[in-house]
Amino acid sequence: MESLKQPVQYLKGVGPKKQKLLQRLSIFTVEDLIYTFPREYEDRRSVKTVQGLVDGEKTSLYLEVCGKIQEKSIRRKLKIYTLPVKDATGTAQLVFYNTPFIKQVFQPDDKIFVHGKVKIDFYTVQILHPEYSFIKDEQHQAFQQIMPIYRLTEGLSQKDFYALQKFIFSNGATLIQEFLPEDILKKNKLCSLDFALQNIHFPSSSQNLRIAKYRLIFEELLILQLGLLLTKGQLDENREGIAFNKMPQLNDFIKQLPFQLTESQKKVLEEIEEDMESSRIMNRLVQGDVGSGKTIIAIIALYKAVLNNYQSVFMAPTEILAEQHYDTIHALLEPLGVKTVLLSGSITKRNKEKILEEIEIGKVDIVVGTHAVIQDNVRFHKLGLAITDEQHRFGVRQRVKLSNKGLNPDILVMTATPIPRTLALILYGDLDISVIDQLPPGRKAIETYCVDENKRKRVYNFVRKQIQEGRQAYIVCPLIEESENIEARSTVELYEELTKEYFQDMRVGLLHGKMKSAEKENLMKTFKSGEIDLLVSTTVIEVGVNVPNASVMVIENSERFGLAQLHQLRGRVGRGSYQSYCILINYGKNPITLERMKIMEGSTDGFVIAEKDLALRGPGEFFGTRQHGLPELKIANLFKHIKILHQVQVEAKKVLAEDPGLHLEKNKGLRRKLLEAFQEKMEEIGL
Ligand code: ADP
Ligand code: MG
Repeated sequence: MESLKQPVQYLKGVGPKKQKLLQRLSIFTVEDLIYTFPREYEDRRSVKTVQGLVDGEKTSLYLEVCGKIQEKSIRRKLKIYTLPVKDATGTAQLVFYNTPFIKQVFQPDDKIFVHGKVKIDFYTVQILHPEYSFIKDEQHQAFQQIMPIYRLTEGLSQKDFYALQKFIFSNGATLIQEFLPEDILKKNKLCSLDFALQNIHFPSSSQNLRIAKYRLIFEELLILQLGLLLTKGQLDENREGIAFNKMPQLNDFIKQLPFQLTESQKKVLEEIEEDMESSRIMNRLVQGDVGSGKTIIAIIALYKAVLNNYQSVFMAPTEILAEQHYDTIHALLEPLGVKTVLLSGSITKRNKEKILEEIEIGKVDIVVGTHAVIQDNVRFHKLGLAITDEQHRFGVRQRVKLSNKGLNPDILVMTATPIPRTLALILYGDLDISVIDQLPPGRKAIETYCVDENKRKRVYNFVRKQIQEGRQAYIVCPLIEESENIEARSTVELYEELTKEYFQDMRVGLLHGKMKSAEKENLMKTFKSGEIDLLVSTTVIEVGVNVPNASVMVIENSERFGLAQLHQLRGRVGRGSYQSYCILINYGKNPITLERMKIMEGSTDGFVIAEKDLALRGPGEFFGTRQHGLPELKIANLFKHIKILHQVQVEAKKVLAEDPGLHLEKNKGLRRKLLEAFQEKMEEIGL
């Protein structure tokens, strides 16, 4: 190995097939591989004996093969292999499924070390589908330690991945170069990079693992913070923007809405109007839970710009959302003489040309659309305000691109992702923040119930009843992180079961991630128009889609979802005047799962849920920085590591105060890392 930038395909054992699988995990170079950290660890240091085993636990054992392997066909596609084994305290069986090669692996009297799940019924002790190594193997030594477990993809085994990492560390470890300045290392008591990387993959002790983690979290947050500070510095210049006028017509418009704005909406609107009226550029984020009424606030702002003889644009992440917004805006503003157009990927070419021309000569007041609105061929006559909805799907770059279409137009972004305020300040250093923290009145709270699987039939009966009363329903299928294919397949299976056994006489639709996006959009439209009663779907149901007639959301295997995600899904119902229900079918048994389901039953407040979830879940990403157009965090967690983050902030500010462009020799490594991490935002950082 000559360089960590070397592509993975040159590694021993990586052929075209494995290369593809690695690519799916965004692993292209050796360095990517090294920076793919374990998801968790399995402590295999304590070894048990057959007699001390407990049903259901995962354990490690030293065993001796004491008989011949048996093959049994259970079903057409299921073959089971059992191997008799023993230790000094008793006998057991190793059980393997559909692995014909296993017949050739073991010889009587072989001494082995295994790790697997224990199953005990009556007098038989079984270890299901264990990992194994032979005592004479040298790999065995490593196997009996704290084992890393990686988040992988279908077709790539832990064993293969482990071997790859091992290979790198025994051949390329010397290529790992420290890039943090000496003084930062010393002052914060950070270990060296090679020690950290070695121990994050192959911890030699729990303590060394902690030390390694700390260093890697620190480095990751430092890069993030430096990048954010540099971006912020650029936007902090108080750029001159448009000073919109207060227009009396705007209040007339608000007065004639079919509802009164909530206090919270009023407050946020005030903040927005103040920004718009000042000559400083508006850069504001509006946060509000699903259903809090962000759209109408956006529309009022759009209208204000129009009244001032400016054009405005409203960008949504999907066609269906764009269409939905277009319909709402059109209905409200057309009677007032405002010309709104929808610009999406699906309109015909001729139509599009006409619309583009009208935008350019200023005949159009408001443009609503998907990312089609930031294409180069869209030229505005006089753009004064740009709004993006559900902004987490748009990166910072898109925001900037949109803003470049006008002469410093005001910018407003809307999101339903609940982010605690302190964190938002760090993430959106360049944005002011408004929060709509109140739901419109009269909204019936969604009733949430968690049930276990043997109540499925009753749940379906309940769904039937609601449909018979004229409502619509969603059934969301289990989330299968590792494989979109399996997820799609299991959704199809559930769909078939439901249409055959429970909902034969109803109109059922099927929606999953393997469908073409046009197909998906179409189906959502059909559901929205009421031509489908029940939608069986993966999580691809759009955030923000408004189907007020839908009153039931059933979520299968709810234990597999994050609470924030469950909350977003639940927000698909309860958008009309009907009492709505969310039913969580839970297969999980452990206390934390039950606790999480209780939180869902007990609260409908996205912020409360987010914080409690975090407290329970611990590590793992609650929401990805990716959503915010920032480099992905691989090990740091912005909630959990807030203390380290504060420490890092101090350090980052000091670094930039001393060396704003990172030109000093000692900061060269930092600079390189920063440029790599912020590739997409390079222009903004201005390094
Ligand atoms: P979100 O914040 O999730 O985008 P929407 O803007 O889609 O929420 O609003 C949800 C629903 O609530 C819409 O049907 C909207 O017309 C309605 N709504 C918004 N504000 C109010 C209000 N102040 N009073 C009553 N209904 C409102
Ligand atoms: Mg919305």
